[in-house]
Amino acid sequence: MAENQTPAIGIDLGTTNSCVAVVRNGRVEVIANDMGHRITPSCVAFTDEERLIGDAAKAQAVHNADNTIFDAKRLMGRKYDDENIQKRIELWPFNVVESSSGDPRFRVEYKNETKDFSPEEISAMILQKMKTIAETYIGSPVKDAVVTVPAYFNDSQRQATMDAGKIAGLNIVSLLNEPTAAAIAYGFDQKKDLKQNILVFDLGGGTFDVAILSMTENDFEVIATSGDTFLGGSDIDERLVEHFSKEIKKKQKMDIKDDSKALSKLRIACERAKRNLSSSKKEPILVDSLFDGNDFKSSLNRARLMELCSDLFKKTMEPVDAALTSAKMTIDDIDEIVLAGGSTRIPKIQELLKEKFNNRKLNQSINPDEAVAYGAALHAASKTGDKTIENIKFVDVTPMTLGINVLGNLMSRIIPRNSKLPATRKKKFVTTVDYQTGVDIKVYEGERLSSDENNLLGEFSLENIQPAKKGVPQIEVTFVVDKNGILTVTAEDTATGSNEEIVIRCNKGRLPKHEVERMITEAKEFQKDDEKREKLTAARHELETLCVELKDLISEQRDQDLLENDELDQFMDVCSETEEWLAENEQATEEEYRSRYDALLEVKERMLSN
Ligand code: AMP
Repeated sequence: MAENQTPAIGIDLGTTNSCVAVVRNGRVEVIANDMGHRITPSCVAFTDEERLIGDAAKAQAVHNADNTIFDAKRLMGRKYDDENIQKRIELWPFNVVESSSGDPRFRVEYKNETKDFSPEEISAMILQKMKTIAETYIGSPVKDAVVTVPAYFNDSQRQATMDAGKIAGLNIVSLLNEPTAAAIAYGFDQKKDLKQNILVFDLGGGTFDVAILSMTENDFEVIATSGDTFLGGSDIDERLVEHFSKEIKKKQKMDIKDDSKALSKLRIACERAKRNLSSSKKEPILVDSLFDGNDFKSSLNRARLMELCSDLFKKTMEPVDAALTSAKMTIDDIDEIVLAGGSTRIPKIQELLKEKFNNRKLNQSINPDEAVAYGAALHAASKTGDKTIENIKFVDVTPMTLGINVLGNLMSRIIPRNSKLPATRKKKFVTTVDYQTGVDIKVYEGERLSSDENNLLGEFSLENIQPAKKGVPQIEVTFVVDKNGILTVTAEDTATGSNEEIVIRCNKGRLPKHEVERMITEAKEFQKDDEKREKLTAARHELETLCVELKDLISEQRDQDLLENDELDQFMDVCSETEEWLAENEQATEEEYRSRYDALLEVKERMLSN
């Protein structure tokens, strides 16, 4: 990095919380937000007057449940009819609707208008907030960032994250897999020249990754990954919400399923109890005025939590086995088991993991909430040539097998999962019908033999094939996956050289280019609106503060007999009049606040000069 150049930041864009870090003078600094918190809720709220992001959005969630969006990451790169989304829609207090292209949209009321936002736009708002947090701390504009994604994110989900970055006005220099980032954070201070194999177990709010890496000093090689992009702490919260909703229905004959405010209050209480149960044995569940002014009281103990979620907890062990099998390793080959993600604090999960590894100690040396952003900041610094840190090298892998559909609805595998990135593979296919002049190429990802059971990423056609008997024309299909895990597919008729290419992003789960452009413009307008609103709030606050200051000053002067009482009464009248005006003018303009401020400041100066 050249001197004076603004550093690139690392952003962990989490389902529940996000975190931003930067390398300065060879040290990683996790940056606190305006509330002094080192993690920021991935939450965006819309009101009649403003847009709120982070802590402010979360704080008002109960009162504005319909218009407070969380979990946006769970919808990234997915279609509206995705079964994971459909299962959840009923439990989310906000509205998710289907766009004309079959994509999910959050429907909210903002400034008395109904507005639809894509998951990319909501994620962009969170990214923008993280960017601002970093800019305030660093003191200059930030452009470049490394943003992390679950290792198990597919092509559409990665593309959606890239789009979110673009909408936020960030240049994403690289996407980085979350467990790789956690491994970099863990390994950075180790300085062991001995090669070691580490298993990263990363269970956050909405996604779960397992990665096995081999590490020597600052060289990281991902050997295998596995995971579930729809498993995390939120699933536990929902289980608890479901459980207590049933209890409420049974005991109090009340169905809160359609009451977004009640659901929101219950979810907050459940999440808090879940977190506390990581250190205590029993927790009360207390919700004031849950519905119709009725309070709700119950309790939850560890055993009950285990019973309600045992399948979810056990499910986390499957990717561990899958990763070990893919890496052709046994538990004895693993030197360290590193935990990342807030949900790894759950004792039962630690217990299951320990048991699997013959009671080995789990490595908790890195802060599970900050590890991913920490690693991302190191990668960002290394990638932008920061000489204050040692160069970090790593090789990542593809999370899923990629291929195309062939006769019999079978998936012909072209790039096997866990292939090193970047990866390029070619395969030749022949036509299946006499004198066929075109072929449809459907690109899938997944491990099943039948294409239908895998995930369709996109499709395209290759035309102008030289007509010939079936089996004669040869079509060469090339798959290229770049370092960010993004796939490009080309097909070529080897006889004519006629070819077609798709970057899979043009298809499924991807926003069209013109939509991204529109969202970039809108995001800038939203930010301007936010800044205007912030200035307005600041102007009002400054006037209120000056009024209080002046009143204190008047009392002081009166106590010390420094000025005539008549004169002081006059100054006090100005203060009272300003206070009345403030009470009657909640919606004044910034200019009005400023001009009142200037007038009051003059009064203060006059008083002090007497
Ligand atoms: P992350 O995505 O890493 O920020 O993790 C957030 C998830 O971790 C949320 O679902 C939290 O409820 C969960 N979490 C945080 N702290 C704890 C804790 N002490 N016990 C259980 N879950 C926790």
